[in-house]
Amino acid sequence: MEITNVCPYCGKEMHEGALPAYKYALRWCPSDERGGIEEEKSVRLSGMPVIESVYAPAHYCESCRVVIVPVPEIETFSDKAGKWLDKTLGSLGDRIDRAAERREEEKAAREREEKWNKDPWEV
Ligand SMILES: [Zn+2]
Repeated sequence: MEITNVCPYCGKEMHEGALPAYKYALRWCPSDERGGIEEEKSVRLSGMPVIESVYAPAHYCESCRVVIVPVPEIETFSDKAGKWLDKTLGSLGDRIDRAAERREEEKAAREREEKWNKDPWEV
């Protein structure tokens, strides 16, 4: 679903803005059965403020008094590390496969050569 600046509740135009993150990345956390929140299952809404503050773009409807925050595609550090690892290990795997193939070819070539070098009359 495309997120527009039309309020899904009243159909009025929403104000564009953002939720600033000053110290930590903004997260949405699901509620747990005990009335608390499950921080481990949180959804990131902004990047991590490291040096500059970051923010999560959001829409605000004045008449409904509601803020809508689209969940951005944020690559976490572990996502990036995972991708890098996949790429690195993947190419390493290719290289190992190719090296094994080459050894097989060399072995076959050597065997052919040995056969040629043998005296054909000597059985
Ligand atoms: Zn509204």
